[in-house]
Amino acid sequence: MTTIEMETLTCALCGAQEEHTVLNSTNTYGSPDLDCRPPPMQRWTINMWAQECATCGYAAPNVDAAEPGAREVVESEAYRTIDAGDVLATRFLRVARLADARGDTDGACEWTLIAVWALDDAEDVEGARALREQAIGLFKAALTSRTAEANTERALIRRMQLLDIFRRARQWDDAVAHAQGMIDDTGAPGHFRNIARFGKRLAEQRDDSRRTIEEASGT
Ligand SMILES: [Zn+2]
Repeated sequence: MTTIEMETLTCALCGAQEEHTVLNSTNTYGSPDLDCRPPPMQRWTINMWAQECATCGYAAPNVDAAEPGAREVVESEAYRTIDAGDVLATRFLRVARLADARGDTDGACEWTLIAVWALDDAEDVEGARALREQAIGLFKAALTSRTAEANTERALIRRMQLLDIFRRARQWDDAVAHAQGMIDDTGAPGHFRNIARFGKRLAEQRDDSRRTIEEASGT
């Protein structure tokens, strides 16, 4: 069950007091998508995953907590002009920009992908595809920085997500090549390589539709 409430929070950057919707608990039923997007009910709480101060534009999982170096970024032109064409996606891209600015490339990947999901929900097909293309560089950078720990759970998730991003951005050759690298990685878990086989087959069939991890099992 999902429980939410309204709370008055004080922005850690500008001190403005505003009401925000706070998620207290949620649950899931079903399978995540191939890019690890959670199933319902958690899926439908996406608009509560980050908060944004209406006064200064600071966007964060919790606006009442200051992220290191946030003020300078939030006041920058580059931050203020971020526009994904959708309010929620723009908020997530702002969180991603703040993560990137403090050297958290992995966090930037995560929030950029969440922004993609917001565009999926808004049925902005072209916008979502363009943002997936933009996310590819970030994911590659995050994975390169953790080459030495290629098979940690976090790295495995990012590799799975990158395969799905390639496929849903219709970058077929890159999707197939990336999937093959996952399949050939004999040190990786079996279910991970099964997901790669499924993703590879979808890419070969030019299928860019949303698919779940459950669909990949047993293939
Ligand atoms: Zn503020």
